[in-house]
Amino acid sequence: MVRQIRAYGVTNEAVLAAMARVRRHRFIPEAYRGPGDYGDHPSPIGFGQTISQPYIVAYMTERLRVRPGMKVLEVGTGSGYQAAVLATMGAEVYTIEIIPELAEHARKVLAAEGFSQVRVRTGDGYEGWPEAAPFDGIIVTCAPPEIPRKLVEQLAEGGRMVLPVGPSGGTQDLITLRKEGGELVKEDVLPVRFVPMVPGSSRPAR
Ligand code: SAH
Repeated sequence: MVRQIRAYGVTNEAVLAAMARVRRHRFIPEAYRGPGDYGDHPSPIGFGQTISQPYIVAYMTERLRVRPGMKVLEVGTGSGYQAAVLATMGAEVYTIEIIPELAEHARKVLAAEGFSQVRVRTGDGYEGWPEAAPFDGIIVTCAPPEIPRKLVEQLAEGGRMVLPVGPSGGTQDLITLRKEGGELVKEDVLPVRFVPMVPGSSRPAR
């Protein structure tokens, strides 16, 4: 799996080492496990959701420029796999999942795999995690139609946000943004296809 990710152009050794270390199959619910657990494609985790293709997980992690001790917010915990990769790289991880069963699954697997320091919240990612803000990095693994305003507010100056933005059902732009002088500067864009970020109680920002 790591050889393939490297061949696709991810060069950050810390990212590749973390991807080699985290046991991806453990995050896939047993009913969905199989020989393709380390293949370069998304894996189903139930409730119509998937863990992203390993290359995309690696790409997003690389773009976030994770450093040990960095405070990172993930929106869309899903299986907990991306959170485990971030934690392996030394990030202090806060992650939010809107489907309670998935949040519970992620909490259990993260604890069993030695990542009990990852904080998992069941809730609406559009709200972010105000009590823990500001974050040095924000990674969104479901696609909102527009950049959620509260997440921008909770990003630290100099921090990076990596997220797919665009309509559900079509392709989206996976955007890397950096906050500089309160403004967002676009660093990178890749066309992707993600599950939608569903509106919770709140409305997406305009
Ligand atoms: N990062 C995950 C994969 C996430 S799939 C992993 O490594 O396994 C996207 C997830 O985003 C799904 O679990 C979905 O339920 C969740 N999601 C969708 N809308 C959300 C919202 N508004 N707030 C929080 N999570 C949301």
